[in-house]
Amino acid sequence: MAEEKRAFQAEVAKLLDIVVHSLYSNKEIFLRELVSNASDACDKLRYAALTQPELVTGDAEFRIRLIPDKDKGTLTIADNGIGMNKDDLVENLGTIARSGTAEFVRQLGGDIKQDVNLIGQFGVGFYSAFMVAEHVAVLTRKAGDEAGWRWESEGEGEFTVTEAPEAARGAAITLKLREDARDFLDPATLRRIIKRYSDHIAIPVVLVEDGKEETLNSANALWTRSKSEVTPEQYKEFYHHVAHAFDDPWMTLHYKAEGAIEYTGLLYIPSQKPFDIFHPDRKQHVKLYVKRVFITDQVEDLLPPYLRFLRGVVDSQDLPLNISRELLQHNPLLAKIRTGLVKRVLAELKKKSEENADYTTFWEVFGPVLKEGLYEDFERRNDILPLCRFRTTAEEGWVTLDQVVGRMKEGQDALYYITGDDLAAIKRSPQLEGFQAKGVEVLLLTDPIDEFWLPAIGEWQGKPFRAVTQGDVDLSKIQGGEAAAPEQPAAPAGEMDSLIAAVKLALGEAVRDVRPSERLTGSPVCLVAEAGQMSIHLEKLLRAHRQMEQEFPRVLEINPRHPLIKGLAARVTAGGTGPEIEDAAHLLLDQARIVEGEPPADPAAFARRMAAVMARGLGA
Ligand code: ADP
Ligand code: MG
Repeated sequence: MAEEKRAFQAEVAKLLDIVVHSLYSNKEIFLRELVSNASDACDKLRYAALTQPELVTGDAEFRIRLIPDKDKGTLTIADNGIGMNKDDLVENLGTIARSGTAEFVRQLGGDIKQDVNLIGQFGVGFYSAFMVAEHVAVLTRKAGDEAGWRWESEGEGEFTVTEAPEAARGAAITLKLREDARDFLDPATLRRIIKRYSDHIAIPVVLVEDGKEETLNSANALWTRSKSEVTPEQYKEFYHHVAHAFDDPWMTLHYKAEGAIEYTGLLYIPSQKPFDIFHPDRKQHVKLYVKRVFITDQVEDLLPPYLRFLRGVVDSQDLPLNISRELLQHNPLLAKIRTGLVKRVLAELKKKSEENADYTTFWEVFGPVLKEGLYEDFERRNDILPLCRFRTTAEEGWVTLDQVVGRMKEGQDALYYITGDDLAAIKRSPQLEGFQAKGVEVLLLTDPIDEFWLPAIGEWQGKPFRAVTQGDVDLSKIQGGEAAAPEQPAAPAGEMDSLIAAVKLALGEAVRDVRPSERLTGSPVCLVAEAGQMSIHLEKLLRAHRQMEQEFPRVLEINPRHPLIKGLAARVTAGGTGPEIEDAAHLLLDQARIVEGEPPADPAAFARRMAAVMARGLGA
């Protein structure tokens, strides 16, 4: 039979190189991966057989068999699941199908130890077989197909695919074990590993030895057991299987909803950020089962996108089994399950947040995702907002919005915030100076979603949100700040008017307006947006994502108490005009831009003016 030789996708070759040549200590997990795949394959066929029962005729009892052969030194993991055709083999066992993983592997640095570590978090799935095997053969036939196939590889750059009429339905993976991995032929070892990692697999894992068969796992769906029967280890291993993840779950929620609608949920929140969490498709990942039959992990309506960090299963008693995935999407029962899930998950998060047990771990990983709910699930915003944590100017750690409201100053009628990309940078914003002098706490927001939910929600506990970089501020009514240094006297109003007129004339269209500032204490200038105008940060975000080309002129605020401004005001009033004032006006605007993280409008002109001003300063 013609043998077809193929090269692995470059990323697979790299991955295999790391897997094979690493001294990965936990080699036994290869078995968990292969059993997990076999179980998935059986789940897929069980679903397909709902509408095409002939696919399983004559072999309807799903099982996974482990067949050690001491003489040959091989271990075979055989399932009677969906199997693979030739294209499937080439696609699934020749490439890294998940684009995020491929990208991740591409970026690995080449420091084997570190790479192994990182890969451990992603998992290598099928390819982990090469940790223990010098040769791997997959004999497979796809359910319903005539032709069978044999895939073979030594894990070094290439694999072969040959037609194999002898293949039975499903897949049998035969590993020729390396010298140092012969231990995996030992029944006691196999029993221990299956019990440890794969007990939760819902179909029997059967050890075949000398013609005798022995089931090694409990072989019932983990979520159907009562909580008291499941150990934390078992919950964790099930999470690894169902989520195709390798970290520890941060939260495990197992419950049975009873009443109007019945379903069981076994839901997890990972402790590490899945690499594709901000992928634009924003797909949810919880798997839907109906009466223990796996239906799909693609029902988008099962959960809202802002809970897409959840992993696990939902098993419904009430949904019809023989319904297409497409129709399922519109089933009203599904909407009810979704409502129940959202309620339950938010309630659980509330509990966790009140226990304060490492809630910030969750928040730091998934807070930006959950905040999307503030914008998208208006009805639930009162449930979601108390779950949110914020950085502020008042203290180092995370705080709640209620804490901030509780600490508002007398006379303060708004909750102030500032947005930006980088916490350290926005903390230094000149626009904060006046607030800090008064001891007014300001929220420091650095997630892109913040630009959207804040205007959408508008207020909390009757206090409107207001950006410190936008519109006018009036801090005069706010009590406090007495302890701060006494205010410097301002430049006389008349002098300020002359200066402002001169700066406006010099800058022309480059600014929307020039005004004396209420919010500055230490800095001479800052830029602000008009109330109702797009914030400077949002504008920057949109430009970065090419959603907008234009740059809008801003309001330049100048600090009448700053010595430089006072000096300039006096100079203008005394009749000084011309290049000196013009240079100063442009440099003030450029300075304000630089503080915002923007380049000067015209870098060459900036450099020329700067040199001229310094030369004049030196008397040169
Ligand atoms: P993952 O399980 O996370 O998708 P793997 O590397 O473990 O990644 O497996 C890659 C793919 O190979 C699977 O998604 C599946 O399509 C296919 N596959 C692996 N093992 C089997 C099997 N026993 N039967 C059918 N298909 C399989
Ligand atoms: Mg897998």
